[in-house]
Amino acid sequence: MRVLSGIQPTGRPHWGNYFGAIRQYVDLQGEDESYYFIANLHALTTVRDSVLLAQYTLDAAIDLLALGLDPSRATLFVQSDVPEVSELCWVLLTGTPMGLLERCHAYKDKKTKGLPADAGLFTYPVLMAADILAYDADTVPVGDDQLQHIEVCRDLANSFNHHFGQVFSIPKAKILDSSAKVPGTDGEKMSKSYNNTLEIFEDPKAQRKKIMRITTDSRPMDQPKEPDTDHLYQLYSLVANDPEREAMAELYRRGGFGYGEVKKALADAAERYFAEPRARRAELASQPDRIREILADGAQRARKKASQVLNRAKKACGLVG
Ligand code: ATP
Ligand code: MG
Repeated sequence: MRVLSGIQPTGRPHWGNYFGAIRQYVDLQGEDESYYFIANLHALTTVRDSVLLAQYTLDAAIDLLALGLDPSRATLFVQSDVPEVSELCWVLLTGTPMGLLERCHAYKDKKTKGLPADAGLFTYPVLMAADILAYDADTVPVGDDQLQHIEVCRDLANSFNHHFGQVFSIPKAKILDSSAKVPGTDGEKMSKSYNNTLEIFEDPKAQRKKIMRITTDSRPMDQPKEPDTDHLYQLYSLVANDPEREAMAELYRRGGFGYGEVKKALADAAERYFAEPRARRAELASQPDRIREILADGAQRARKKASQVLNRAKKACGLVG
């Protein structure tokens, strides 16, 4: 398996990002080859502040390393450090039907809302296709919201192959475990844009306060409750160990408990669960030069692969002899 996935450096990672994506990237890094990149070219469509973008990019690398990505097993790099991908993106753009991109939801949603969209957002799926095809990736772990973009990538690769000969491997989406749809502090899906996140690396004291404010229903104290449908319990079960989880489920079914107790247990379990990554993150953050070295090494490996694929594509369409 050759695995590839990108993560946008657009803010601090939250529990949804970890349990819904990052944890599964870490599990996949043992495959034959795995490539993980910080998608700063994609982020440039939304982050229009140079200092912030540079900071988010470095932070994202530190976050991934702290959460278990191992640069000796996976290739970790910054998207813009591999210029071959941008060149491949142009090759793919020529031959991409406008209609295909007009149907893509990120652009369509903006347009429906009457918001201005730039060509970067419009052509985003083509850059993503180049990201994937440049490494001959056959497996792309994504949330179901990205499925459409994988289909675009497969379309573009197939039509290029059909026209110019067998150049690209056709990738498959690997849908990330959707049972890990993490609820936010308001019970809705946790998401940066909903302002309902619990961040992985936020200060434990601040996080505890946030947890104590999580919205709950007005169930009378003495009534039993089904744990699996309660967002407080869902959050708890992510960070608790097995016996703790079972004891909590038992408490729910028996009734006679207050949500305050559950919140306190949740804050305790969360602090414990992320203690090690937090310590690792502090250590990594104090060595930015080491991070840059890891990223430079990753970029070198990624470029080697991407330049082979780009060369194949350029030969096929007559850009090089
Ligand atoms: P935005 O609000 O800008 O959409 P987000 O907080 O939803 O940001 P994304 O950048 O959309 O985060 O998602 C990054 C990755 O994390 C994706 O793979 C996505 O499927 C996963 N993810 C995000 N939120 C959740 C969640 N609540 N539960 C499970 N997975 C999630
Ligand atoms: Mg989202």
